[in-house]
Amino acid sequence: MTNRDSLKIAVASGKGGTGKTTVATALALSLAEDTSKPILFLDCDVEAPNAHLFLKPQFREEKPVEILIPEVNEELCTYCGKCAEVCQFQAIAVLSQRVLVFPQLCHGCGSCTMICPTNAIHETPKTIGVLQKGTAGEIEFARGVMDIGEPMAVPIIRQLKKWVAPLKPKITIVDSPPGTSCPVVESIRGSDFLLLVTEPTPFGLHDLKLAYQVAKELQIPAGVVINRENGVYEELDEFCAQVNLPVLMRIPFQRVIAEGIAKGENLLNILPEMSEDFQNTMDVIKTLVKKGK
Ligand code: SF4
Ligand code: SF4
Repeated sequence: MTNRDSLKIAVASGKGGTGKTTVATALALSLAEDTSKPILFLDCDVEAPNAHLFLKPQFREEKPVEILIPEVNEELCTYCGKCAEVCQFQAIAVLSQRVLVFPQLCHGCGSCTMICPTNAIHETPKTIGVLQKGTAGEIEFARGVMDIGEPMAVPIIRQLKKWVAPLKPKITIVDSPPGTSCPVVESIRGSDFLLLVTEPTPFGLHDLKLAYQVAKELQIPAGVVINRENGVYEELDEFCAQVNLPVLMRIPFQRVIAEGIAKGENLLNILPEMSEDFQNTMDVIKTLVKKGK
């Protein structure tokens, strides 16, 4: 949970391609019109960050993300097997006269180093991505970018959140990865509100149900944005009503939006009048957060 003067809103979706980043960036831009409240935009979709395409930030600072990988000095090793036993990720294997480390599986947790009775393990840093910070107009912008082929988004998201903590913005908008896996949980953890973006299709509803379960597990109040609405899809509204998930905004399906987004334009450039809708949505979110406290 953020401190009392600040608000952290995570924007998520149970699946990719629903317009999550479109909504997150439009929300940030609409709020940035009030320059008295500093806004931080955090792109936590570290496997495929693309919010920069809509907000066009200037990056001024960057920092590599490293994890510590074990290296075994076999002259000190007794092949006792304790390191392999303690590793939850099968990243280290002990054979009769050899220890194998699989860096792609290692989470850099340090457990093997701690448990080794002969101090045969030391740790070496391995770069798995980069953090970048800058500004997009009035918006502070930060993101993590995972190196191609690296499997671990969570340490990058965790370090990104730690890196920006001293900024203390009034409002933080988190663009979370799509889906409901560990990187999503890490991105939205500590948020005051979860905005779930969905589309009115059976697939959209299926994935919204999963995303809603995550919000429930983490006890984060949530609301829904229905994107590309083209007529009413009753099952979606029925589900939202049934679980008391407020529908905060409906973005109609419009060709002009799809064409603009495809060219990398942000939603508020395409339809400036939507800024007020996002500001109104923010007012409702604030009320819901207050109610939940
Ligand atoms: S715990 Fe240490 S001594 Fe035992 S197998 Fe692993 S590296 Fe070797
Ligand atoms: S650092 Fe952690 S994840 Fe990596 S090999 Fe050791 S115990 Fe396994």
